[in-house]
Amino acid sequence: MQRRDFLKLAGAASLAGCASAGTPSKARVVVVGGGFGGATAAKYIRMWDPSIDVVLVERESSFVSCPLSNLVLGGYTTMTDISRGYDGLNKYGVQVVRDEVTAIDAGKKTVRLARGGDIAYERLVMSPGIDFNFNELQGYEAAMQSGSVLHAWKAGPQTVALRQQLEQMRDGGVYVISIPMAPYRCPPGPYERASIVSAYFKQAKPRSKVLVLDANPDLTSKAGLFKRAWSDLYQGILEYRPNSRAVGVDGSTRTIKLELDDVKADVLNVVPPQRAADIAQKTGLITTNNRWCDIDWRTMESKAVKGVHVLGDATLSAPAMPKSASMANNHAKIAAAAIVELLNGRNPEPVKIINTCYSFVSPKEAMRVSSVHEWEPTQGTLVPVKASGGVSAARSEAEGNYAWSWARTIWADSLA
Ligand SMILES: Cc1cc2nc3c(=O)[nH]c(=O)nc-3n(C[C@H](O)[C@H](O)[C@H](O)COP(=O)(O)OP(=O)(O)OC[C@H]3O[C@@H](n4cnc5c(N)ncnc54)[C@H](O)[C@@H]3O)c2cc1C
Repeated sequence: MQRRDFLKLAGAASLAGCASAGTPSKARVVVVGGGFGGATAAKYIRMWDPSIDVVLVERESSFVSCPLSNLVLGGYTTMTDISRGYDGLNKYGVQVVRDEVTAIDAGKKTVRLARGGDIAYERLVMSPGIDFNFNELQGYEAAMQSGSVLHAWKAGPQTVALRQQLEQMRDGGVYVISIPMAPYRCPPGPYERASIVSAYFKQAKPRSKVLVLDANPDLTSKAGLFKRAWSDLYQGILEYRPNSRAVGVDGSTRTIKLELDDVKADVLNVVPPQRAADIAQKTGLITTNNRWCDIDWRTMESKAVKGVHVLGDATLSAPAMPKSASMANNHAKIAAAAIVELLNGRNPEPVKIINTCYSFVSPKEAMRVSSVHEWEPTQGTLVPVKASGGVSAARSEAEGNYAWSWARTIWADSLA
């Protein structure tokens, strides 16, 4: 998408055509985190104003997509299929630095790299994703280090390890997935995972069970569609228990401790409570409940630290806005457009963004939820547009094909 198209789509047609105006002198934008938010922001700033230097700092050697990673757990796709390199950003002139940012000096406008050295910036974009509040689950960290309890809530080595545990589990075993109180990354993700593991058991280990222990009082997304799929496809395999908040784990016996009782599992997959990633915490960007970073939704600029734009899962979500790849990708375009405007001495305009999120409930069938979010000046935030969005009428293979197309498109939009 060209910048002018995005702005037009966003109702800011008056700004169209400014993309190639350029700046008299070069400014540098540093982007921390090459996930859905950061990679997209880096690419779009360069596309919309090639006179701005963009440096993307990412600690991993390649991008691994959380979307579709649940299919890896079922054996229905591979890690290779959901991974991409960063080379695609070279053609836009994004400088990709493989390192970890350990500190930010917002006064001096520099970021510090783990391997040594500082990089100066004019504007900083932070899209570091989430980290976990392990301290809310007694025994968790030790159990995770030993490999007996996994979250696999960042796609990567834990995804591979969880798949291995599911393959090695005896037929007749129990897989337990524990879901934290919302908000957490990807509201429908745990229910998709429970569905895909059930599909795998149905086919490969038919005497096995899936137990979903949800801290929330009901499914937090696409509830009707998931319940329908579970009753049609996984009766006798999948059991759902709401109001089941985990308080601890015992890795040696693979036992999860709930407020009122304990449950023993063969494979224990506990998704811990979440917050903005460590680097956001270290740099004073977290403003709310000790967890999330509040921002100005017209520019994505932090309300705590000037000149720093925060994107993606790390943000304090606007009303009814999920923590999704789709949203992180759209946040990136708000920030990229705003930064180009600011660095060219113009005023950014608020924009309208769209979320689309697919969930698989069997190897081929999926369903979708979408929403549209627009700036509401009196509330000073983005709010859902009335009568927009909604969910699929039913799960289908057609939606499954759309889900794959959506994933390939967003990977390319972010990284290619
Ligand atoms: C199982 C699962 C399924 C999902 N399915 C979907 C789906 O179908 N659709 C959807 O829209 N969303 C889905 N999501 C949610 C989606 O993955 C996230 O919302 C999205 O990744 C958020 O993007 P982000 O840029 O905020 O963070 P991330 O994509 O996590 O990127 C953060 C990056 O920052 C890097 N980083 C962090 N700290 C530093 C540092 N100090 N220095 C350098 N680099 C750093 C990390 O290595 C990482 O690459 C799913 C999530 C899960 C767990």
